[in-house]
Amino acid sequence: MTSDLYVGGSWTSSTGAERVTVLNPATEEAIGDVPSGTPEDVALAVRAARRAFEDWAETGPGERAKFVARLADELERRQDEITGVLVAEVGTPRRVARWAQVGLGIVDLREASAAAAEFAWQENLRNSLIIREAIGVVGCITPWNYPLHQITAKIGAALCAGCTVVVKASEVAPLTARALAQAIDAVGFPPGVFNLLHGYGTVVGEALARHPDVDMVSFTGSTAVGRRILELAAPSIKRVALELGGKSASVLLDDADLAVAVPHTVRASYLNGGQSCNAQTRMLVARHQLAEAGELAAEAAAQYVPGDPADDATKLGPMVSAVQRDRVLSYVRQGIEDGARLLTGSPEPSRRHSRGYFVEPAVFSEVDPNARIAQEEIFGPVLSIIPYDTDEEAVAIANGTPYGLAGAVWSADAQRAQRVARRLRATQIEVNGGKFNAAAPFGGYRQSGLGREGEAFGLGEFVEVKSLQL
Ligand code: NAD
Repeated sequence: MTSDLYVGGSWTSSTGAERVTVLNPATEEAIGDVPSGTPEDVALAVRAARRAFEDWAETGPGERAKFVARLADELERRQDEITGVLVAEVGTPRRVARWAQVGLGIVDLREASAAAAEFAWQENLRNSLIIREAIGVVGCITPWNYPLHQITAKIGAALCAGCTVVVKASEVAPLTARALAQAIDAVGFPPGVFNLLHGYGTVVGEALARHPDVDMVSFTGSTAVGRRILELAAPSIKRVALELGGKSASVLLDDADLAVAVPHTVRASYLNGGQSCNAQTRMLVARHQLAEAGELAAEAAAQYVPGDPADDATKLGPMVSAVQRDRVLSYVRQGIEDGARLLTGSPEPSRRHSRGYFVEPAVFSEVDPNARIAQEEIFGPVLSIIPYDTDEEAVAIANGTPYGLAGAVWSADAQRAQRVARRLRATQIEVNGGKFNAAAPFGGYRQSGLGREGEAFGLGEFVEVKSLQL
């Protein structure tokens, strides 16, 4: 057994002997393994986090923020190494992995640290002193698609708030989390403040979510598992934050510059192989512009040639696993069966490579807004173009899924774009390509989740609010 859990400030072995093999999705070769994990591992980690809690919560916010800022610096020093791990286990193209994966992880920590300096830890309200204090031990359960950022978005805020954390990394991409724990170890956080577990969701994730001594679960992943987390948390009434799936719409109003908006939407749909919760997977286009938009989208999609993710020129790597590849291809098949027009792409695996879980990027046009490919999260490079006749109808279609995570609006008239953007029931809306802001609130309406991450909004999730009447 290797020592690969990080508990109470040391590397330790799992109490179980089973291992999970990690594959490189571009080569299908084994690149490492981690424990498959046990409920006893969870119990040990929660105990370590509980023991560390009081002292960490009493460390001032300034001191905690300094630790988190030092972790950002440490990750920056290791950025190339961690990017390499991430490319190998997720298949994200190297250039994207460097900025959108590892770079974003660093930004999360810096933003949390900066927000902690300005956060209203206490304030007066008439005769009361309002105090915000750490909620306690937080269980963080995270997915594989942005395996660093999804942990740092949680722990940056949780640690700054004074919580201690137990992270259960995705079993599909656990090696990036191990690299993060190595950086945390190098920074020298007090023992037990950060703990890392590995293993399957149904065993380790469930044990963490239901553990009576965990005060809060912060989960990022699929809506189906988010629902299960709520059930597991119910008996102990623990707080739950959920960052779940999406089916975000990019609304191209009829005065939008299609030559800019269409390639931008294709990029926002295909980033990280379409394996992004906020991927803009539906492009809404005025009916009379459908043919032109379709041509531009197919042209943009042709730039996404599936290739070796370690190559700096690659824009589209493999899907993360055989399961994910098959899921994506089954949706392409479904789209064809449901009568949508496949402009480019294939329901068969890409023939460009003899190994690896590669698919061709797909663009469908004339998609019925209620078709499965327009309603369900696919998590692959599959864009659905949906025609509409009026702005009113475009808004209804954009809001017409169970999700509400992100979106975009394009128009030559900035006021008109903003008016439509305000009507979208989702959290992060790009207006005319407005760039991503890690300090802005991120999270979901409806079945895209509960709560927000991002700077002060994230910090607010990890505190209890109390008052002293003076
Ligand atoms: P997933 O829900 O299958 O797994 C996420 C995590 O939950 C993993 O660590 C997994 O082991 C664990 N898990 C699985 N079953 C569990 C259970 N019964 N109890 C406790 N834990 C359990 O998701 P995934 O396939 O890893 O990631 C893709 C999904 O994540 C997509 O739906 C995507 O939209 C979503 N996601 C959301 C956001 C966001 O911020 N809203 C960000 C990234 C990904």
